[in-house]
Amino acid sequence: MLSVSGSARTGLRRGVLSNAAWARIRQLSTYDTVVIGGGPGGYVAAIKAAQLGQKTACIEKRGTLGGTCLNVGCIPSKAMLNNSHIYHQTLHDVKARGIDVEGVSLNLPNMLKAKDTAVAGLTKGVEGLFKKYKVDYIKGTGSFQSANKLKVALTEGGEEELEAKNVIIATGSEATAFPGVPFDEERIVSSTGALSLKEVPKTLTVIGGGVIGLELGSVWSRLGAEVTVVEFLGGIGGVGIDEEIAKSFQKILQKQGFKFKLNTKVTSLKREGDTVTVEIESAKDGKKETITTDVCLVAIGRKPYTEGLNLEAIGVEVDKRGRVVIDNQFNTSVPGIRCIGDATFGPMLAHKAEDEGIAAAEYIQSGHGHVNYDAIPSVIYTHPEVAWVGKTEQELKAAGVQYKVGKYPFLANSRAKTNNDQEGSVKVLIEKETDKILGAHIIGPNAGEMIAEATLAVEYSASAEDVARTCHAHPTLSEAFKEANMAAYDKPVNF
Ligand SMILES: Cc1cc2nc3c(=O)[nH]c(=O)nc-3n(C[C@H](O)[C@H](O)[C@H](O)COP(=O)(O)OP(=O)(O)OC[C@H]3O[C@@H](n4cnc5c(N)ncnc54)[C@H](O)[C@@H]3O)c2cc1C
Repeated sequence: MLSVSGSARTGLRRGVLSNAAWARIRQLSTYDTVVIGGGPGGYVAAIKAAQLGQKTACIEKRGTLGGTCLNVGCIPSKAMLNNSHIYHQTLHDVKARGIDVEGVSLNLPNMLKAKDTAVAGLTKGVEGLFKKYKVDYIKGTGSFQSANKLKVALTEGGEEELEAKNVIIATGSEATAFPGVPFDEERIVSSTGALSLKEVPKTLTVIGGGVIGLELGSVWSRLGAEVTVVEFLGGIGGVGIDEEIAKSFQKILQKQGFKFKLNTKVTSLKREGDTVTVEIESAKDGKKETITTDVCLVAIGRKPYTEGLNLEAIGVEVDKRGRVVIDNQFNTSVPGIRCIGDATFGPMLAHKAEDEGIAAAEYIQSGHGHVNYDAIPSVIYTHPEVAWVGKTEQELKAAGVQYKVGKYPFLANSRAKTNNDQEGSVKVLIEKETDKILGAHIIGPNAGEMIAEATLAVEYSASAEDVARTCHAHPTLSEAFKEANMAAYDKPVNF
């Protein structure tokens, strides 16, 4: 075990001390920075703080580091997406590539095991990093006694008190349940339950057509479930997606077998034995319908998690949506306490939380940090992937910005054609007068990797011509991004 317990920190062994004496000694644990929560925001903040020379501890109650992302979010979902894609491709695609396979079958327990192995490797890796950078890992539930005093209810039993000059709240978020219907994680599941279903449901109804619903819907659709997505809004893909891209995405998913009920609200949800009854109603004409489904995934969003921290008592302000209120240096309403990641404003994304973790530690150290909220990429890891950064066309229209559009289909990209994986396109939005890239939207193979180039371009305020005159290796998918930029300020060559 790599965790550094109180005894290791003080060099004393608990066995030789009375509980009272032990409690007194434990009260001596003082830190420059204590981070509450060991997710991508918290663990990164803790490592950066330690790298900068701050005596740092990170409190985590889950028993493993990495938070939602590593344990029940990004990583397990991507493991299931990757492996379900391979399964689906093996069944439906490889024959045309000259690969004959017989007797293909799904071994779901092993697929779930492969996911768990990926998770375990990565969470242990974070423990190793804590050891390497001398971050004290305190396993337990932290709460404030005062602005600079924390109590930890230790997982192993007992309590520990910590004093800290700086505290970073990084307690993340939790899935929102359908009103009045708690998750049973068997039939009415959150994303966590949907990552561990014991068998492939014949029918899966997903409430919410955002990123998590579509990714996990894809997993089970590829493994054989009939998937129906019920979405209150008129389009899919969640907040921030370009409407044109969302429409193409919907068509692609429909071809893959997804059924969509848009502009539709769920009015009731009930488990009845081994099925779930979902009552729905059209938001347009009030038409009612009942869906009976094996499993219902409720993916209607996540809410900040600050339960038990005792924020109210010490005066940390929280808004109506439960988000800890911060200024532009992550300071809460109480001096010395900062907040980052899902527990506060902004997109609930691991890389946003990580960047805030680094910046928060830097603000503590030097008063300077940097996160550019205009250049945070979003990715939906379906196949094809969808990725974007910067402004959407609808945002530019609403703001009255004069812009030009450059588009390039993967159908015209040599690598995509060669790989016989040419669904999708790249769309670039540039400022009319300056050609500065304002937004990039990609639907296609490896869009999640390709968006890094677009993000760098936005971060450095590149123009379309800057990208177009940058040499791109051939044959690569990234040439489609170059060509879309050529199309935006002039003309593409290969289309
Ligand atoms: C299914 C799913 C898929 C996702 N996929 C992606 C993706 O592909 N890419 C992406 O960028 N994002 C993804 N996300 C979102 C991502 O997981 C979150 O944005 C990210 O984990 C937020 O990081 P965080 O550090 O703010 O909080 P969290 O990761 O939620 O970590 C907070 C930690 O704090 C701990 N904690 C809470 N209270 C206390 C306390 N009082 N004492 C001690 N510990 C405490 C919790 O146990 C938790 O481990 C996904 C989320 C889900 C659910």
